[in-house]
Amino acid sequence: MKLRDKILLNQGKVLPVLEEFYSIQGEGFHTGEPAYFIRIAGCDVGCQWCDEKQTWDIDLFPPVSVDAVVKNAAKCPAKSVVITGGEPLLYNLDFLCEKLKGNHIKTYLETSGSNKLTGEWDWICLSPKKNKPPFKEIYTKANELKVIIYEESDFEWAEKNAALVREDCILYLQPEWSRAKENMQTIVDYVLSQPKWKISLQSHKYMKIP
Ligand code: SF4
Repeated sequence: MKLRDKILLNQGKVLPVLEEFYSIQGEGFHTGEPAYFIRIAGCDVGCQWCDEKQTWDIDLFPPVSVDAVVKNAAKCPAKSVVITGGEPLLYNLDFLCEKLKGNHIKTYLETSGSNKLTGEWDWICLSPKKNKPPFKEIYTKANELKVIIYEESDFEWAEKNAALVREDCILYLQPEWSRAKENMQTIVDYVLSQPKWKISLQSHKYMKIP
């Protein structure tokens, strides 16, 4: 990467955007709501079951101008943007949020919390991963905790994280897609016995939309 691009990347004025698209949020609290999605490449977590492995190789996605991306988002009828990845907090997101907010667009973040929090957010969905646990500071900022259930030990991981978030943080268990069928009943039984949790499904996959 050229030196100039590196400087702009550090300032958050360019970002390695993998894709941007208008769709319906399929998961968590905002399920069913239309939003503009900006998927940023790069992730330092490495979940074995990751369904976005194409985001990992950042070299495939040269940084693009944040101003241009915000212009695209501003044309969208829905006035909320979901910043997702990969792991978006690998980058400085202050400039992106400032620009979105300057266009009266709500900013929603999907993150594992594995890096320092930047940006100003209307909603933070924290999805912590055992491979690289979140920075402590994000627990008090998360509006929603979404724990992916892949194996039995993930319930214990979910409880550990639930003990760290604010009292008003909404708690979700979400079956990992490739094991959703086999794990669903266990998750249902767990939520019935621990009703502070709700179930989140990847409904966009059932709807066959991005
Ligand atoms: Fe994939 Fe998300 Fe895990 Fe990164 S944090 S490896 S993008 S599931």
